[in-house]
Amino acid sequence: MAEKFRVTYATLTADNEDMHVAYEAGIETARGWLGAEIAAPGDDSPGDPVEVTSPADPAVVIARVRAASPAAIEKAMEDARAAAPEWAGRSWQDRMAVIRKVGDLISEYSNELAALVTMEVGKNRLEALGDVEEAAVFFRYYADQMEANEGYDRPMDSLTAAEKTRSVLKPHGVWAVIAPFNFPAALAAGPAAAALLTGNTVVLKPSVQGSHTAWRIYQILLKAGVPEGAVQFLPGGDEVGKAVVGHREVDGITFTGSYAVGMSILRDSTAAGYPKPVVAEMGGKNPTIVAASADLDKAAQGVARSAFGFSGQKCSACSRVYVDASVHDEFLAKLAAKAEEVTPADPLERDTFMGPVIDADAVARFEKAVNHARESGRVVAGGEVLQGTDGFPGHYVQATVVGNLRSDDWLFAEELFVPFVAVTAVDSLDEAMARANETPLGLTAGFFSGDDAEIDWFLDTIHAGVVYVNRPAGATTGAWPGVQPFGGWKGSGSSGKAGGGLYYLGLYLREQSQSVVS
Ligand code: GLU
Repeated sequence: MAEKFRVTYATLTADNEDMHVAYEAGIETARGWLGAEIAAPGDDSPGDPVEVTSPADPAVVIARVRAASPAAIEKAMEDARAAAPEWAGRSWQDRMAVIRKVGDLISEYSNELAALVTMEVGKNRLEALGDVEEAAVFFRYYADQMEANEGYDRPMDSLTAAEKTRSVLKPHGVWAVIAPFNFPAALAAGPAAAALLTGNTVVLKPSVQGSHTAWRIYQILLKAGVPEGAVQFLPGGDEVGKAVVGHREVDGITFTGSYAVGMSILRDSTAAGYPKPVVAEMGGKNPTIVAASADLDKAAQGVARSAFGFSGQKCSACSRVYVDASVHDEFLAKLAAKAEEVTPADPLERDTFMGPVIDADAVARFEKAVNHARESGRVVAGGEVLQGTDGFPGHYVQATVVGNLRSDDWLFAEELFVPFVAVTAVDSLDEAMARANETPLGLTAGFFSGDDAEIDWFLDTIHAGVVYVNRPAGATTGAWPGVQPFGGWKGSGSSGKAGGGLYYLGLYLREQSQSVVS
């Protein structure tokens, strides 16, 4: 029998036949999972189920999600608290072995999980496989970090021979993970991996639209040997999320989602009378600057992939472009041509680049933006809602490019999370940078230039946590754990330390400075 195909970053290429065959087998398995009832384990009185359907086709029921009842939330918190001493008391090597096992199991099931991601949120196969493999890599990368840092337990200097000192990093206790729909595998898995590995117990609240994938990841955590008490699964919407983050038993929170919700969690995080750690990864309104010296084909390619990949529903998506006036028209024409090549299609199909957006609200946001652009600027490519037209039963819209807007238009400020990019001309790179840096957000940013001095200036001056130069594969998107640590500055992130990076595990630990005199 042929060896089972294993996804790695390097194997994720459109022309890899083995990858396609394995993914297509994964579709068959994942189809058998559709319509699953998802509820908090042991919940006797969950709410009425919400039927979650595929954004690509409302006839496909992905799951029936029952929101956790107040009693189930209480029980999950108590169980997570009760499990904390045993889990924290294990050696870091012991926890690390379990965490590595989770990574291996996620990789083992990556094809069926990725097919589920495609059906659940509409991500194309390469991106869905990437999402799942990223989840696995988070477990492996953090395990490597734990090992490299020797469990964050170190002797310190001694002032006298009698005094022995150590720096010991310890877990906080119970950690809430509030995950978003757009990376239903990676962004549920990454924070859970970090929290568990550092000895915290985890209460996972996925987004309603990503519940099924998160449920499968939860099952894998248990299968790998995470004790049942140490990981709790609480499905549901905003009400459940609020109850979880505001719960007295929660000692730390990782939230990935909107700026507004992230800020309210941060504001409420002192309600217990002392500050609780909050790792908030919030939105982006990510700029790309195109200099006159840039390779314009590369720039158009990079912006198109970044703005339209997963239908613009990445926090990292490029949504505004500042182009040197001398090359603006040429760049805009090239970008428009790229947008026109994007033919929205069923994300399960082999060659689909862009599938649907997640729901009818996203379609409404798209329409509002396009209508505004039609009044005050120019829709250069796309602009149509396809949802409901022939062959498009789901939430489909076109990849859209808008030009000629004033650079103070709200379309340059508001995160839309749809495949929509606004372009404007600037008279100088300084003007472009002033515009790029003027929003309260600072997640990712891109630059295209053929001039080394300009590149140095960009890297020195841009206010964003993840920055890319001359990247046709994605002007502002596509960070990978251990390669491009991912986290935002300013209103895009509360911690200043990026996921998949060298300093991330420290966010889940508190330092105890120990001095013992003999
Ligand atoms: N890590 C993803 C990327 O670099 C984005 C994650 C997100 O949307 O939050 O494209």
